[in-house]
Amino acid sequence: MALTSFKPVLRIAQREKYAIAAFNPVDYASMRAMVEAAVELDAPLIMQTSAKTIRYYGHEALVQWYRQLCEDVEVPVTLHLDHGKDLDMIKKCIDLGWTSVMIDASDKPLEKNMKITRQVMDWATPAGVGVEAEIGEIGGVEEDIVVAEEDAHLANPDEAEAFCKEFDLGVFAAAIGTAHGYYHGEPDVQFDLIKEINERTQPPMALHGGTGLDEATIARCIALGCAKVNISTNLKHVFIDGFVNYHKDNPGDYEPLKVLTAQFEAMKELFKQKITEFGGAGKGKAVLEEIGQLH
Ligand SMILES: [Zn+2]
Repeated sequence: MALTSFKPVLRIAQREKYAIAAFNPVDYASMRAMVEAAVELDAPLIMQTSAKTIRYYGHEALVQWYRQLCEDVEVPVTLHLDHGKDLDMIKKCIDLGWTSVMIDASDKPLEKNMKITRQVMDWATPAGVGVEAEIGEIGGVEEDIVVAEEDAHLANPDEAEAFCKEFDLGVFAAAIGTAHGYYHGEPDVQFDLIKEINERTQPPMALHGGTGLDEATIARCIALGCAKVNISTNLKHVFIDGFVNYHKDNPGDYEPLKVLTAQFEAMKELFKQKITEFGGAGKGKAVLEEIGQLH
């Protein structure tokens, strides 16, 4: 069974010092393209749906696509909720078949953030669903969540330690200087902060805002303990450009399936490139074996 929580998968990646790519699908084809990329590279995969995508398609369609595409593959694939803020939506994800969820209460004071995270842990843990939580506030625009530059603040290592002691998280997100969307100017990644937090906490760290970080920066973050790297904005651009560029190059061609094929191949290429860059290629079957789910 390849439908797995990210918890055991990310612990292995953390130990082996590579990261699992986490992509946000926007439709069935983008989901299929990421699964094909992961299978061809023998890599573990996290597909993470945004709240906006769930509102657009409904929970049922997304979870059916996930099951249909991933049930029989021989690499571990997680269906994760990215930046969950609505508790009803999170509960429904847990009940309907998401294998991991993120509770993002990072805009609340620590105590309140912990209270909300406790509620989600209480639903998720008995269901075998992994949990990601966030400390500090990551800036930028992520779907319909907008965090202004003046509101974004870095994670406090003391708070991160207290938070991770309290909960048995699959992974945690900490604001360490990255931002959602494309960067305006040089990203100011706080490597010392990543190092300190990872030395003081057990679960692996998720690197949000992976689009626009260069390969060397990401490699350094992975070496310091980031085992999940999120790529969303990159895909949005390839999704639109893949479609538009085909039409620009072939203006008289009104064959939809050819356009969709060009778009699909462009997305798959991006996924393969990122999976390889983060070190996940060639690890999929071994991870499934280790977590005892290879059938
Ligand atoms: Zn994020």
